[in-house]
Amino acid sequence: MAERVRAFDWSQTALGPMATWPQNLRSAVQICLTSRFPMFIWWGSQLINIYNDAFAPSLGRRHPWALGSPAHEVWREAWPVIGPEAEGVMRTDRATWHERLPLLLYRNDVAEEAYFTWSISPLEDDQGKIGGILCVATEESARVLAERVPDHLAEQRQLALDAANMGWWHYDPITRVASFDERYKQIFGVAGHQRSNDEILKRIHPDDLPGVWARVEAALDPQNPKPYSAQYRIVLDDQSIRWIEAHGLANFKGAGSERHAITLVGTVADITDQKRAAEAMKQQADELARSNSELDRFAYVASHDLQEPMRTVHSFAQLLQRRCGESLKGDGEKYLQFIMEGVNRMRALINDLLAYSRVSTHPVAFTTVNAMDVCRVVVQTLHATIESNHASVTVDRLPMVHGDATQLGQVFQNLIANAVKFHGERNSQIRVSANETNHEWIFWVSDNGIGIAPEYFERIFIIFQRLHTIDEYSGTGIGLAICKKIVERHGGRIWVESEVGKGSTFYFSILKPK
Ligand code: ADP
Repeated sequence: MAERVRAFDWSQTALGPMATWPQNLRSAVQICLTSRFPMFIWWGSQLINIYNDAFAPSLGRRHPWALGSPAHEVWREAWPVIGPEAEGVMRTDRATWHERLPLLLYRNDVAEEAYFTWSISPLEDDQGKIGGILCVATEESARVLAERVPDHLAEQRQLALDAANMGWWHYDPITRVASFDERYKQIFGVAGHQRSNDEILKRIHPDDLPGVWARVEAALDPQNPKPYSAQYRIVLDDQSIRWIEAHGLANFKGAGSERHAITLVGTVADITDQKRAAEAMKQQADELARSNSELDRFAYVASHDLQEPMRTVHSFAQLLQRRCGESLKGDGEKYLQFIMEGVNRMRALINDLLAYSRVSTHPVAFTTVNAMDVCRVVVQTLHATIESNHASVTVDRLPMVHGDATQLGQVFQNLIANAVKFHGERNSQIRVSANETNHEWIFWVSDNGIGIAPEYFERIFIIFQRLHTIDEYSGTGIGLAICKKIVERHGGRIWVESEVGKGSTFYFSILKPK
């Protein structure tokens, strides 16, 4: 910079040629240029800038044109901060001092946060008036930003802890002292930010303490440490219970037999609300299961008890039709016919309901079942219906499975009977087949009947869901619900794929034994 200052054409500036400069300015420039501490001088009414080598880097791309330029041009963006300060120094003849003052600079074309520690002191001219200032300034931007990195991490950690409503803790296994943050304090209801660990342990519910401590010790094991993770209860001063979830990780020092834990650091969260909600949900689920099984039992008993009077009505209606049918006058015969139809519908309903509740109340009798045999028996049972509907049923090779033969027979029977029943205009072509995956058998029963619209794919498996009136197709709306229950009790799923007018394929899976 000394060379540049010497070579510079000062006559073009408000300072005029160097030879005309006041002695004090020359001395100040001399000191500035020979110093290795960053500094600059602003002189005259325009505060013309002269700086040394040590300060040049802080000017960025403004070096070297900043030499001989008015200060307010060099420091345009920072002028609102430093301009008044420099003018104040000149007016009051008093030096200033700042540590790490933040400035936003554009010295390298982009906005940069910069931090300076500086002192501006007045410089007298040869007449003893203030002619300019000397600024000794070190830039600390790099240091400030470097210090801020760990701060960022701490901030981020705090944000994450806040978002999760968590506190942090730190346990020193050597001093057995626990340190913690504000949230931990609130959760545990303790004072201060440090406590002997024994005091903290006293808060843990006596039933949970041994388990928690075993986990702490496992986490501190120098040879085979496990991440610390525990859920436990604490007892507060008012004897209320709070549920805690804690996680942590130990740090170790040394090697081999010297290796030992130096800290265990972790988080805590108050999970009392979640625990209560989970407990309430479990209670609800238990209650629902209980009332469901009561309902199943009720349906079973009711339908079972209804069978007897129904049988009586049916037999006597049949007897009446046989013995007195011809002697009935007027509408008598028609009425008897209605009674018979009603009774038959009622019997079907009772039988299906009974079958439905039997599936829920009777355990699955697992054996090895030849699905092929089961299916053949079903086709034989349905023989008359199949014939009268001019349907044809093809049964492919079916595997041996692990399940309840009677119940699986019922699934085949309901699906094949439906395939026969919902045939529409065409004669039914029905096929029963099976595929294998790694862990399950998938059976399917396909037909070329009326099909089902996609919006009903799920709904038809719910009890009493029918898509047609009783006059269009007879039925109870219970068959598929029975199938679903049986399949699920075998660890499988049931679903349908179909297109209206083109037919349906019902699939169900049965888990293979492991
Ligand atoms: P339903 O006693 O009425 O047959 P399901 O529970 O067996 O009762 O079936 C429920 C409804 O699903 C039936 O009413 C019918 O609308 C529809 N459905 C079942 N199987 C078929 C099929 N193969 N083709 C078309 N629709 C079917």
